[in-house]
Amino acid sequence: KVRTVYAQETIDSVCPFCGVGCLTSVSVKDGKIVKVDGRNGPANENRLCVKGRFGFDYVSNPERLTVPLIRRADAPKDPNFALTFENRFEVFREASWDEALERAAGGLKAAHDRKGGAGIAGFGSAKGSNEEAYLFQKLIRQGFGTNNVDHCTRLCHASSVAALMEGIGSGAVTAPFTAAEDADCMIVIGARPEQNHPVAATYIKQAAKKGTKLIVMDPRGQGLMRHADYGLKFKPGTDVAMLNAILNVIVTERLYDEQYIAAHVDGFEALKVKIAAFTPEAMEPVCGIDAETLRQVARLYATSAKSIIFWGMGVSQHVHGTDNVRCLIAMALTTGQIGRPGTGLHPLRGQNNVQGASDAGLIPMVFPDYRSVENPDIRAEFEDAWGRTLDPVRGLTVVEIMNDILADGIEAMYIMGENPAMSDPDQTHARKALATLKHLVVQDIFLTETAWHADVILPASAHAEKLGTYTNTNRQVQIGRPAVSLPGEAREDWRIIVDLAARLGLAWAYDGVPDVYEEMRGHMTSLDNISWERLENEGSVTYPAEAFDKPGSEILFGQSFPTADGRARIVPTDLVPPDEVPDADFPMVLTTGRMLEHWHTGAMTRRATVLDAIEPEPVVSMNPHDIKRQGFDIGQQVTVETRRGTITLTLRADRDVSEGMLFVPFCFFEAPANFLTNPQLDPFGKIPEFKFCAARIRSAEDR
Ligand code: SF4
Repeated sequence: KVRTVYAQETIDSVCPFCGVGCLTSVSVKDGKIVKVDGRNGPANENRLCVKGRFGFDYVSNPERLTVPLIRRADAPKDPNFALTFENRFEVFREASWDEALERAAGGLKAAHDRKGGAGIAGFGSAKGSNEEAYLFQKLIRQGFGTNNVDHCTRLCHASSVAALMEGIGSGAVTAPFTAAEDADCMIVIGARPEQNHPVAATYIKQAAKKGTKLIVMDPRGQGLMRHADYGLKFKPGTDVAMLNAILNVIVTERLYDEQYIAAHVDGFEALKVKIAAFTPEAMEPVCGIDAETLRQVARLYATSAKSIIFWGMGVSQHVHGTDNVRCLIAMALTTGQIGRPGTGLHPLRGQNNVQGASDAGLIPMVFPDYRSVENPDIRAEFEDAWGRTLDPVRGLTVVEIMNDILADGIEAMYIMGENPAMSDPDQTHARKALATLKHLVVQDIFLTETAWHADVILPASAHAEKLGTYTNTNRQVQIGRPAVSLPGEAREDWRIIVDLAARLGLAWAYDGVPDVYEEMRGHMTSLDNISWERLENEGSVTYPAEAFDKPGSEILFGQSFPTADGRARIVPTDLVPPDEVPDADFPMVLTTGRMLEHWHTGAMTRRATVLDAIEPEPVVSMNPHDIKRQGFDIGQQVTVETRRGTITLTLRADRDVSEGMLFVPFCFFEAPANFLTNPQLDPFGKIPEFKFCAARIRSAEDR
């Protein structure tokens, strides 16, 4: 088992960061991780990016929570109090597990006694395993009779899932990103895989190098455009204008697949009517892409034998995010670019288990496998299994929960491994909501900004300390294994949920993680023929799998769609402007996102030595012409302001950022970008408009 002279042991596992799901070998010496290598997994073929390879020592960071903490009776909940690891005992005291669990359960029960299920909500985690996600949503639903349970999928691809469920009856990818190898044409829109899915980006670049045509569409320039045949830097927030113009060309030049539409697709006639006005010439001034380029791109996508579309949060995080995805679905359905090798629709999922957590029912509208909580037959199945009457109404989503707290609704929350005090839009509002809760239980590995507001903190497990399954963006279910021991008294997350359930009076009995997996599988036909034993033997299995001895299906919907009549549906879209457009007071467009070295709110990667050394401080990126025109100096401290807040950070020049735009990553606790962002929601996916709001910038020295 020993692979290097340094390591005493090497454990097969899976990367804890992005949705690519690279398989890893974790080398351990003296109880610490000393090295991580890539393994030959289906999503990475031995490759790793900088995060997977060097981002491991957060696990042994001295700031790990090792003992349960309880808020001191005299510690006020001040949303502006800057709690740190050092001053934590001004606010919290250490407690035994018994006391902490009693206190945690007692506060949740008290809120339930006062208000029933309407008084409770839970946020689970896309960083946790499938089993943790399943148990978490079960605890909220069975324990409190409410569907107020959600997680950060609401902040990333909820609009993609809404459009995909409506259009093709399934919220997951129709083909893995490795299908790029079989494609003749690829569109990458609103995604920056070089930063956010780096190993997936290598497959896209390799395909481009071998001759596959690459079209990159992004209001910000990016490295992938160097490999592209077309790089479309369209105006931010004008996705529908650009995509409807492409659909207009597909229709008017009869580039669609008549036979495919007749056999598989509804809604084409309505689409024809809707997109008639969206001519490339009419949309050119709206989206900023010249009409001829729009025509060429439409022809290339539609007439290539095999075309595939990848997208990310540049598409989904808008008030028109669902409409954006509806356009992409319409492109694939009109041209029949789906259901064959080298074709398909692939929303690049952000977190390591955001696909699996959603599949496991960690969302307020559905039980595991996306089965509606509003369907009485489905509800009856879970009521039988869980022995109680369940909530027949869909629950509140992430941002709605924060709003409900401040409207005197929800009084108590259980948050596992999520950091809404950094990830939610309009942080002043979100942190005020957290501080308003009568009772907050936080289960995490660090004293996150969310934990500042907790009444009880339960010290939990890092990925490298526990067993569990994770489902990547390709629908590949893979096992993560413990490599090192838990620090101090910290416990595995699934055990904490079970311990809490016991104190809520739920008679759960599990022998271990495989036992939880098998129960979950019993409610999820998507996991048919993927037993724990099979996962142990094969390491990675794609769902759905037709039989125990057959590999899972990588390419879906060749024959029909999982809808009531087996047909897909095009939903035509109109132009919906961004919620908050620039004006004289706030003349610039602010967009937020991730960076290569840091992952999401930075709770892990900011505590990883190598990664934080590369990107150690908060920055705002601005076009060099704007910097010169506005009289700033590169590297100076500047203040970025919106109608919701103000942050101060270092100015960076970046030619990829268009003139009139600002880009701020949301991983820096010193200057949280989400103090600035707009909480306005897409009406279908309920996702906030992180990618567009009006902002202004000034020197930090100006008052
Ligand atoms: Fe980890 Fe994603 Fe990097 Fe792979 S690409 S090593 S899964 S962060």
